[in-house]
Amino acid sequence: MRLLLVEDEPDLGAAIKQVLNHEAYVVDWFVDGFQAWEYLQNKWTEYTLAIVDWMLPGMSGLDLCKQLRSQNNHLPVLMLTAKDRLEEKIIGLDAGADDYLIKPFDMAELLARLRALRRRSPQIQSRHFQVGCLTLNYSTHEVTRQYPNGNKQVNSLTIKEFQLLEYLMKHPHQIVSRDQIINQLWEIGAEPVSNVVAAQIRLLRHKLGEIESESLIETIYGVGYRLNA
Ligand code: CA
Repeated sequence: MRLLLVEDEPDLGAAIKQVLNHEAYVVDWFVDGFQAWEYLQNKWTEYTLAIVDWMLPGMSGLDLCKQLRSQNNHLPVLMLTAKDRLEEKIIGLDAGADDYLIKPFDMAELLARLRALRRRSPQIQSRHFQVGCLTLNYSTHEVTRQYPNGNKQVNSLTIKEFQLLEYLMKHPHQIVSRDQIINQLWEIGAEPVSNVVAAQIRLLRHKLGEIESESLIETIYGVGYRLNA
């Protein structure tokens, strides 16, 4: 899952990003509201959630939220703020924020609020995500493969493997290109080496029990990959 973080306090932003990366979120972190808004106009990126601070340079989190809603963009937004008066909370929610977290907060609470927001997303209703014979567990970062004979194989995935498989599972039976994978799974500014996607696919196939076979994750030469779950 990819998450947009807009927070101008360097220490807090870095701490949030670290915690979220550990939870297998790909995080794009902006410190300026207007830059985040401009980037959101780039339709290549599919965000699952956004965490937006209220007070920001460039464009306030409140205005960012209003702009999103005026475009009929329903990206779930958790707003962060030091403002804790009731009328300010109401202003934030009226602007289109889905939830509200008052600084200072505990990271465990932030994660719990994000899980709650995520459950509202139609694709991910629980801690599990199933496509065909594959089930991802968001709590343990494990994948379960069910075989036609009823046998099950469970494997732990690294964060990158988990993100990659999740992306393929969100686009089953579709060809996804290497560039799409890089755009979606590597953060802005990261410059992955050229064969990194192929290497991750190879690791993932091994974890899925595909030692010599490519039936589950098929390579479409010169184009990309396709999940046949
Ligand atoms: Ca701020």
